[in-house]
Amino acid sequence: MADKDYYETLGVSRDASQDEIKRAYRKLSKKYHPDLNKAPDAEQKFKDISEAYEVIGDADKRAQYDQYGSAGPQQQGGFGGGQGFGGFGGGQSFGGGGFDDIFSQFFGGGGGQQANPNAPRQGSDLQYQMDLKFEEAVFGKETTISYTRESTCHTCNGTGAKPGTTPETCHKCHGSGYVQVVRQTPLGRMQSREVCDVCHGTGKEIKEKCPTCHGSGHEEERHSVKVKVPAGVEDGQQMRLSEQGEAGENGGPYGDLFIVFRVAPSNKFERDGAEIYLEVPISFVQAALGDELQVETVSGKVKLKVPAGTQTNTTFRLRGQGAPRLRGNGRGDQHVKVKVITPKHLNGEQKDALKSFAVASGEDMTETEGSLFDKLRDTFNGGKRKK
Ligand SMILES: [Zn+2]
Ligand SMILES: [Zn+2]
Repeated sequence: MADKDYYETLGVSRDASQDEIKRAYRKLSKKYHPDLNKAPDAEQKFKDISEAYEVIGDADKRAQYDQYGSAGPQQQGGFGGGQGFGGFGGGQSFGGGGFDDIFSQFFGGGGGQQANPNAPRQGSDLQYQMDLKFEEAVFGKETTISYTRESTCHTCNGTGAKPGTTPETCHKCHGSGYVQVVRQTPLGRMQSREVCDVCHGTGKEIKEKCPTCHGSGHEEERHSVKVKVPAGVEDGQQMRLSEQGEAGENGGPYGDLFIVFRVAPSNKFERDGAEIYLEVPISFVQAALGDELQVETVSGKVKLKVPAGTQTNTTFRLRGQGAPRLRGNGRGDQHVKVKVITPKHLNGEQKDALKSFAVASGEDMTETEGSLFDKLRDTFNGGKRKK
């Protein structure tokens, strides 16, 4: 029989409904999409999954496959490769998944075989990852995104039937999508419920198929939507755009689009919600005498007065200079932590100035090893060293 088991590839049983196959395909293709899954075998898996879905995801090809296997009825050709199932285009990438599962609970997918195949069902949700620069997340932006989705076929309006004709209730299963089958097996008579071989589980018979969608009622489209990224959005947060997902079945509404934001880190600032943190190096002279600094914020430079006698790691608050609050008014604060830098390389003049400073402070320099060594060296050099 089949040299490739497409059912096994998608992890579904041989009597799975077209919907179950579709759900399994979506789940796996999200999991193994090469944009997201960097495992070495992910790309091959993704290809296998796509190939399997291209065949058994299509009721007609599936029937042929069930009969002849993946080589197809002809000598050459078969299904493999073919037109290359496009699926996901451009900037679209999927992560996490799970949306289908959430909806399957609402739309009767959990019960699977009990669901009425003719009931309106909402389309699948899609996930779109949007990468934002640090500043874009802080201030928000307006942009247009485009992605490939399944939309309602424009020719037949989703019925799958040639314009001027209408789908009829399947004469074999009377619309249920399933038939009772009795088989003689070595274990005796076995009765089971199987997907109707006339309508392939849809409950409908389309005598003349729509020339555009070949009966599926859907077609792929490149869909664009305007997105207003709210100011103050954070990494990992998501936004739902209602009915921007995929077309529903039997007149059901479109699924939703979930935009997941990925915010790039800044090389200057740290951010926690509306609060922004920045470290600023200052010299010990600035720390000791006090100074007025020009400090960078997300909206430009602002003045910050550092008082005389500031210790290292002291944090100052610049009120209202943080990121906008996502739900609420105003902005958070920027927290500026000053780091007092001890100079590493001093020239002679600087050293002298510091020694004078030490003397003026009444510091006893002989207590440190360094100064002891200096004294010894001074002795050997005949005390020529400048004081
Ligand atoms: Zn039927
Ligand atoms: Zn159509």
